[in-house]
Amino acid sequence: MRKKTAAIVLAGGKGTRVGRNVPKQYINVGGFPLIYYSLKTINDSFIDEIVLVCPEADRQYCMENIVDKYGFSKVKSIVAGGRERYHSVYNALTALRCIAEGDSGDPCEIVFIHDGARPFVTTDILERAYDEAEKSGAAVVAIPVKDTVKLADDEGFATETLDRDRIWLMQTPQVFDFYEIYAAYSRLIEKEQEILESHSFVTDDAMVLELFSDRKVKLVKGDVRNFKVTTEEDLELAGRYM
Ligand code: C5P
Repeated sequence: MRKKTAAIVLAGGKGTRVGRNVPKQYINVGGFPLIYYSLKTINDSFIDEIVLVCPEADRQYCMENIVDKYGFSKVKSIVAGGRERYHSVYNALTALRCIAEGDSGDPCEIVFIHDGARPFVTTDILERAYDEAEKSGAAVVAIPVKDTVKLADDEGFATETLDRDRIWLMQTPQVFDFYEIYAAYSRLIEKEQEILESHSFVTDDAMVLELFSDRKVKLVKGDVRNFKVTTEEDLELAGRYM
């Protein structure tokens, strides 16, 4: 039997890089808003509950036009996003803990963190990631690079060629023991200034665990189709895949 599992679906970004008036998460692709697709796959899966993150001003809109409209019954809370992705994740983790306290039940044991801007996550990916997270404690979906990878200096000159056999591109979902990732994120928020001075970026969840725990994060094979819709070209590609 699977452990109690929740998913955080992130749609709290401004989504303006696609260059449309509407934030990308609400753009109609193949007859549905972009955010519909990953919510649908997760809502129909073994995952028990969902916290959706959207911009503060859009909470009512998302409730009426996404969650109620499409009957995503596992969405237990719609949480306001923060300035950076990691603020949004922290808000959602806190909400998950509060939901459990309110229900006087247990918080989830396993949490999936997924970019809502990746519409092509599949049930297979969710299952592979869950199995590995249960075994190893933490698992992130990723794909190995195919191209040669180089570091560049500030002027755009190549300085070093990296061993591509060891380089993976991170996708989501990223899957963790709830308490471990919650503890790591709480430390990150406490030490935010210090961390930003030394690293200057926090772009995924595995990185938060790397910074604040000894837990090793296992890479699980994702899919090139599980890409993040960021630009207008991505949107066109997503439309073709749908
Ligand atoms: O900005 P980036 O492409 O890394 O965003 C990845 C995901 O995180 C997107 O689904 C976006 O909506 C979400 N996000 C968020 N809150 C932010 C920034 C991004 O929920 N402040």
